[in-house]
Amino acid sequence: MDLNYSSEDRAFRDTCRAWMEANVPRHDLKTLDERKQWHRKLYEAGYVGMLWPKAYGGWGATAMQQAIVQDEMARIGAPPTINGLGIGFIGPTIIVHGTDWQKERYLKKMLTAEEIWCQLYSEPNAGSDLAGLKTRAEDAGDHFVVNGQKIWTSSGPIADWGILLCRTDSKVAKHKGISCVLLNMRQPGVEVRPLKQITGHSLFSEVFMTNARAEKRDLIGDLGQGWAIAQTTLGYERGGNSLGRVTRYAISFQQLVKAAKELRRNGRPLIQDSAVRAKLGKLYAELEVQRYAGLRVLSALSKGEGVSSASSITKLSYTEFEKRFYETALEILGPHGHGMSATADYEEIDTSSGEPGTWATAFLWSRAGTIYSGSSEIQKNIIGERVLGLPKEVRADRVKA
Ligand SMILES: Cc1cc2nc3c(=O)[nH]c(=O)nc-3n(C[C@H](O)[C@H](O)[C@H](O)COP(=O)(O)OP(=O)(O)OC[C@H]3O[C@@H](n4cnc5c(N)ncnc54)[C@H](O)[C@@H]3O)c2cc1C
Repeated sequence: MDLNYSSEDRAFRDTCRAWMEANVPRHDLKTLDERKQWHRKLYEAGYVGMLWPKAYGGWGATAMQQAIVQDEMARIGAPPTINGLGIGFIGPTIIVHGTDWQKERYLKKMLTAEEIWCQLYSEPNAGSDLAGLKTRAEDAGDHFVVNGQKIWTSSGPIADWGILLCRTDSKVAKHKGISCVLLNMRQPGVEVRPLKQITGHSLFSEVFMTNARAEKRDLIGDLGQGWAIAQTTLGYERGGNSLGRVTRYAISFQQLVKAAKELRRNGRPLIQDSAVRAKLGKLYAELEVQRYAGLRVLSALSKGEGVSSASSITKLSYTEFEKRFYETALEILGPHGHGMSATADYEEIDTSSGEPGTWATAFLWSRAGTIYSGSSEIQKNIIGERVLGLPKEVRADRVKA
């Protein structure tokens, strides 16, 4: 792939930059309604759902154009869009596996954030071992009756709909008895209890389902196909958007260099300390590696290649980098890191409050990336088994004496 910008791309960037300069809100967006309005404005300008087919309300743009928009939004410090789980992973899953009725009913409202979506996969005893999930869905004619508990549900408190993995057959092997269905979160049988994090925010929640109702027409794929469908969602979640992240890291890096020039320790700017310079140099080199990895994903998307197990490589690489990045930033900034804001990388921290974060909270948040959508250890297992074709892991507790 030619990774230079074409003249169309350059013209697109100019238009996008001018639009952002004219439209980005000059004040913090405090309420969910304000954030929805901003999202809707971006959508109408053609900057949300860019890669989605036009038939489903998307814009059929190129991956390069999407990367340009992410770049321009990060550059100007635009508030993030919302409904990221829906637009990034759940919608694309419905596009691949859903019925025409489901596409017609759900996709456009997802793009415009008229309906917010969450992902109901993890359970208290089924995170890494997702196939061990216990939430049951029993056949009741035209609908399923759902009972069970989910945990770590991002956007739970604001979600209207969820994509749910549930057990519809307990007699077959555990992967085969799972189905995937869309669940209305606004019903009496669904109780959402927010969980408070170490940062003070409540990004995610527990969800209790007690005789909740899921319609048969909302079953994605066939009964028992849930495991394969979950792989599609997780594939998008792990690999889809790495270049946008790299842009945000790059902007955070510039902020860090600026701070190192301005802040003083022992009477001289931090940047004059050779240890600080060495750390910045190492971070910059790593950042470039991430940028090229992001371009590789972009190149694959541009060629129309779908997501695969190889998305685990990207996910492992950028999430582990993010941890090193903020750890090093705090080493450099010392106590200043607790007061200074690091807004550029704050997109996902709390879509409900929209509060800006400090370098210290960004450091805390960086732990999350190596856990959600499959921990780093699980990504290594997937790379070993499915990408390299190594033998399956042998767990010590399952080896016969
Ligand atoms: C910020 C955030 C947002 C999230 N949002 C959602 C969401 O919206 N919806 C949702 O369904 N879930 C969500 N999750 C949950 C997430 O998917 C799980 O936390 C994750 O899959 C790990 O599961 P667990 O927490 O049960 O840990 P466990 O599975 O109990 O793992 C504990 C530790 O053991 C290690 N381990 C486990 N099995 C193996 C193995 N086979 N080989 C090597 N090491 C192993 C793990 O790597 C980890 O270090 C979110 C998590 C976070 C942090």
